[in-house]
Amino acid sequence: MSSLDDLYRRVIMDHYQNPRNRGTFDDALTINMNNPTCGDRIQLQLKIEDGIVVDARFVGEGCSISMASASMMTEAIKGQKVDEALKMADLFSRMMKGEDVEEELDELDLGDIEALSGVCKFPARIKCATLAWKAMQKGVSEPEETK
Ligand code: ZN
Repeated sequence: MSSLDDLYRRVIMDHYQNPRNRGTFDDALTINMNNPTCGDRIQLQLKIEDGIVVDARFVGEGCSISMASASMMTEAIKGQKVDEALKMADLFSRMMKGEDVEEELDELDLGDIEALSGVCKFPARIKCATLAWKAMQKGVSEPEETK
């Protein structure tokens, strides 16, 4: 195992054990999503004002990849414009398909999310990594249905 893999694994475990933005809001856009393949479940809540994701929280249970990804995703999108958050989601899904996204990563900083880049080598886990992102995409693109 390379030292980069080792570093990434530690970042993932840190988010799994100390999830950021874990919790609920009394009143917010709420999206529930699950990944039956692995048994991951997530409830994501978003506060969107004037086209900006001002806050995000999640609760759920599942494997370390799904929970770490939710933690990283909420960190990344907080304070971002909805458009930017969607661009990040697109970039992440392409990263999971194994596409070369080095250049775009220079422009769009995904932060700790890069630690999940190795997941693309494990097709069975990709749905775990993208679950939180899919919930976010659904929430911002179909807000009326998720209220
Ligand atoms: Zn999973």
